[in-house]
Amino acid sequence: MTGRMEPYRIKAVEPLPRTTRPQREAALRRVHYNLFDLRAEEVTIDLLTDSGTGALSAGQLAAAMAADESYAGSGSFHRFRDAARELTSYPHILPVHQGRAAERVLFSTLVGPGKITLSNTHFDTTRANVELTGGEARDLPCPQSRDVDGAAPFKGDIDLESLRAVLDGPEASRVALVLMTVTNNGCGGQPVSMANLTEAAAVCRRHGVPLFLDAARFAENAWLVTRREAAYRGRTPHQVAQEAFRLADGCLLSGKKDGIVHIGGFLGLRDSALARRCEPLLIATEGFPTYGGLAGRDMDMMAVGLAEALDPAYLASREHAAAHLAARARAAGVGIVEPPGLHAVYLDAGRLLGHIPAHRFPGQALACQLYLEGGIRSVELGSLYLGREDEHGEPVASAPHELVRLALPRRVYTRGHLDHVGDVLAQIAGEPGKVPGYRITEQAPVLRHFRVRLEPVDDMLRCVSDERAHERH
Ligand SMILES: *Cc1c(COP(=O)(O)O)cnc(C)c1O
Repeated sequence: MTGRMEPYRIKAVEPLPRTTRPQREAALRRVHYNLFDLRAEEVTIDLLTDSGTGALSAGQLAAAMAADESYAGSGSFHRFRDAARELTSYPHILPVHQGRAAERVLFSTLVGPGKITLSNTHFDTTRANVELTGGEARDLPCPQSRDVDGAAPFKGDIDLESLRAVLDGPEASRVALVLMTVTNNGCGGQPVSMANLTEAAAVCRRHGVPLFLDAARFAENAWLVTRREAAYRGRTPHQVAQEAFRLADGCLLSGKKDGIVHIGGFLGLRDSALARRCEPLLIATEGFPTYGGLAGRDMDMMAVGLAEALDPAYLASREHAAAHLAARARAAGVGIVEPPGLHAVYLDAGRLLGHIPAHRFPGQALACQLYLEGGIRSVELGSLYLGREDEHGEPVASAPHELVRLALPRRVYTRGHLDHVGDVLAQIAGEPGKVPGYRITEQAPVLRHFRVRLEPVDDMLRCVSDERAHERH
């Protein structure tokens, strides 16, 4: 059987929202060119995120029906805890409503003013939760991560030299923990090798610093290890994932990714004393330790999802889907972050829309165009996300790369849907000069990309009106 084939068939379907170009034009104007503010019913193919957007299986829905909604000590908790323990080897499994709650509970307990956390790359909520305790989140990505075109297999690795340098240096006593994000979401979804993780764990052990996994995409990382790391060929993703968890002292896990649930997550801990210290905050802010902000059905569905996410046939078909979309982008002449991972394809908008400078947001321009032409929602990860301007709108800092992320919800879209995305991309790439840049009209001081308002820049807008006039003829 070929890995290209999805190892499931479809039992329930849902119609895709369909819109006309004038409707999409009006919608873009209404939301001030901020795609977060679209109503989902205005979006035909939603590639905004792979978080909490997966399709449930018949097995998960059956487990949800059989779930136990007792307040304390439910059967659902015990089934969920057994599944999480079997996977991670951690005796203490603290359920939380989603990954960031696990971050808050752990960092409030272990981090704090003057403390540092080190990571291959902190995810944005992870960084925010370190900083909220008064700590400093420091990223140590490996040098290959900066080369978007390079085909290095493990661009998600931590820079071991920098890690050793900090832990051997004067700041060592301030390091509260090391966090390995697998796969490295802030870094193009690139995987971390087991060689890198093993060595990072050895360095941490030598220095008595706890190592945690930010394991939202533990299954996808394990799959890419079996595909790209010679020493692990022939192992199952389940075996690789188990080994990865065993190298660490605990994990933060957002179930909304490789748990294939709409909500849920957990904090896994090896150390009983630490688990006892975390429990009061868990109870106060999430819930009693046998539910932690989740319904019994959520825990039962996550227990099943954690296992389904490790099915090699599913992971192979997911890799093929990402590779297919990546190939369509390349064929259209659109560069991507190489090599493609599993959860998303990252388009290089800066290179495609060379006529739009960074402070006119080529990533946002491409994201808006994908919506306008094809009803496709994506997310900008460029200077709108990472850059800054002064009060006159002049650029102060821009992102290293102007990217657009096409995230792939799990088990939701077929190759036909991805071909639609490829067709629209090819259409845009055929006449990139017609895509206007954007200017910010309103923004918030922090996390501005969520709430920003924009407008197309006039001289570029004229191209769009010309095109509209042309269409009417
Ligand atoms: C999504 C994510 C989180 C946060 O999890 P939520 O469930 O969204 O709160 C943390 N780290 C990584 C790497 C993630 O991808």
